[in-house]
Amino acid sequence: MATLRDPLPLGGKKTSEAFEKVFGIRTVGDLLRHYPRRYYTRGELTPLAELREGDHVTVLARVESATLAQYSRSRFPNGGRKTTDRAEVTVTDGTATLTLTFFGGAGRHVRALQRGKIGLFAGTVSTFRGRRQLVHPEYELLPVDAVDAETTAEAAAEYATELIPVYPASARLSSWRISQAVQVVLNILDIGEDPLPEEVRQQHDLWPREMAIRAIHRPQDRSDLQRARKRLKWDEAFVMQAALAQRRMAAAAMPAMPRPPEPDGIAAEFDRRLPFTLTEGQRFVGEVIARDLSCAYPMNRLLQGEVGSGKTVVAVRAMLQVVDAGGQAALLAPTEVLAQQHYRSITALLGPLASAGQLGGAEHATRVALLTGSTGVRARRSALSDAFTGDAGILIGTHALLEDRVQFADLGLVVIDEQHRFGVEQRDALRDKAVGSRPHVLVMTATPIPRTVAMTVFGDLEVSTLAELPAGRSPIATHVVPAAERPRYLERVWQRVREEIAAGRQAYVVCPRIGDEAPGEAVGDDGGIAADDADADFTARRPPLAVLEVAPALEGGPLSGLRLGILHGRLNPDEKDRVMTAFTAGEIDVLVATTVIEVGVDVPNATAMVVMDAERFGVSQLHQLRGRVGRGVAAGLCLLVTDAPEDSPSRERLDAVAATSDGFRLSRLDLEQRREGDVLGATQAGRRSSLKMLRLLADEELIAFARQEASAVVEADPQLAGHPALREAIDDLLGPQRVEFLDKA
Ligand code: ADP
Ligand code: MG
Repeated sequence: MATLRDPLPLGGKKTSEAFEKVFGIRTVGDLLRHYPRRYYTRGELTPLAELREGDHVTVLARVESATLAQYSRSRFPNGGRKTTDRAEVTVTDGTATLTLTFFGGAGRHVRALQRGKIGLFAGTVSTFRGRRQLVHPEYELLPVDAVDAETTAEAAAEYATELIPVYPASARLSSWRISQAVQVVLNILDIGEDPLPEEVRQQHDLWPREMAIRAIHRPQDRSDLQRARKRLKWDEAFVMQAALAQRRMAAAAMPAMPRPPEPDGIAAEFDRRLPFTLTEGQRFVGEVIARDLSCAYPMNRLLQGEVGSGKTVVAVRAMLQVVDAGGQAALLAPTEVLAQQHYRSITALLGPLASAGQLGGAEHATRVALLTGSTGVRARRSALSDAFTGDAGILIGTHALLEDRVQFADLGLVVIDEQHRFGVEQRDALRDKAVGSRPHVLVMTATPIPRTVAMTVFGDLEVSTLAELPAGRSPIATHVVPAAERPRYLERVWQRVREEIAAGRQAYVVCPRIGDEAPGEAVGDDGGIAADDADADFTARRPPLAVLEVAPALEGGPLSGLRLGILHGRLNPDEKDRVMTAFTAGEIDVLVATTVIEVGVDVPNATAMVVMDAERFGVSQLHQLRGRVGRGVAAGLCLLVTDAPEDSPSRERLDAVAATSDGFRLSRLDLEQRREGDVLGATQAGRRSSLKMLRLLADEELIAFARQEASAVVEADPQLAGHPALREAIDDLLGPQRVEFLDKA
């Protein structure tokens, strides 16, 4: 007998190695979670006309003919000849045909592949003389036709409708080798206790686990499959939600220092000095956060809000509440440019409130310090010292904040801006800098996250949303510019940019690449290119446009006479700061940049954006980017320039971005097009590629139910003492990171 955790009981070392190398399958459980990709019905052959060249396919087809051909393969210099045999086999689905070609051993194949036999054939589709073929396919014939004199009509019908599982396969491991291994394992499987409690199974009409596992690999019919899938999805959702519930409970049990509001402190003064009225949403979320901060256990809140919805002010108010209560706050930003901008705009908003101990400082005041990788020696020393002594109430910075030497007197609140750029590890690293008790944590993102993703990826966070934009924002008009089809349109783009500048405005030109890469270096900048979003076939044609090539071309061409600036991730930090300051001051008309400007950059006078090779960017990324030009009172304009052909998936995505300004809809679209693994990606805490069956978007309802049930089970029995099988499943899910995952709650 073999349990799920046992190593694969497959005789040969070579076979086990292949399973591990190709699919990362090590244990019985791993193999049983390698689910079939699809199922063929014995009586229904694969439509051969739909095969595409270059695909690795496994098809079910019937042999139509098999012939042996002698041919001379080569003529040797000495005049001798070598004769080789070749088999040419034609298989059919009843309509279309496919040629199988074998060199060498041809006689054996011709004998095996007799007319009328049905089998699975696997190989890579190529074309030879206009016909599609598989060269040297692997094949496996189905057992001899069951229909003979003794077979009843029923048996024959059953035979014809039998489902044949087809597994994700590779050249080294064919679908049927995997299928055989699964059969071996199923024969000796000792599945053990079911991790799903009986009540939950009954309540939601779920099969026992063993039944589901057997059925997914060896279904009797299609309705079996549905029930098996439902149960296996529940496994994934339930176990993950139970792990998250444990983490939440552990977090709630941690003590934190309450930081209640002070009616007569800096925060109150800040509110009085604000140059605008808070939106309804900002006020409401502010109250929720103020209450969270007053509690004796740590806040763990995700604040999501459209680009430009004013999250920063909400964060500053929270930070000041903590400062008023005697604590400190740290604000972590993903880029140097953004950290510097936060520093500038927050000190400006605070005015004399940020000048503690200085001439002109207000009565209640604190200090704001900036710490990034490029902060000079003296400024760094004073920032570190102010953080350590507590003189700095607010410390703003990049990853530099995470370094060991950064120490706080009393860190009470951690704010993480643009969460999508960080992993849980960074959140944890910063949080660990609090002495004694846990700090409160506020993470912010402008990439809205659908409910189920928030529940799964950020399952331990409460979620608040800023839905409205501050009044007086102007809409952004977005247009797709098909440069390849209509070169004239591109001329018009630059003309529009010139018009904006003539009207006293500024513009961005965004390119996917910097352009100083060494030959062969991977193209990529500040996380700029969403390679998984691009259509590989189309984008492979030429390298993406680069800042360092486009800027001089514009300067010497369509934008000559304008003041151009350049900004990208590899400029030295002083230079970055200089360029941003000049652009903010209006001394640069057009900023040619990479996606360093994607997050948070706020220059209200910039009203136009041209995105070159727009298809290279992800949907959410484009939405973020264009948010840079909707910040002022003048209407924003965003032009997405692309060579992607009409009707291509790339073009469809761009059209979608142009058609809606709803970030939630776009982020959904984005998620639908990515693989789940990428969704969970870096933000996934200690969970390996654990989702095989579950689809975060499609299975929203199921996940919500599973969360409910799992939370109830964990609340009643936090250590899961009465649920050993569930505990074991959580261990398997989290792997070695389990302790860390729960401890760091
Ligand atoms: P985001 O949510 O994208 O981070 P920001 O916090 O950068 O947005 O805010 C964008 C701009 O809107 C900033 O210039 C900010 O000062 C301004 N702002 C924030 N709240 C309001 C408000 N209630 N009314 C007017 N302007 C506001
Ligand atoms: Mg922001």
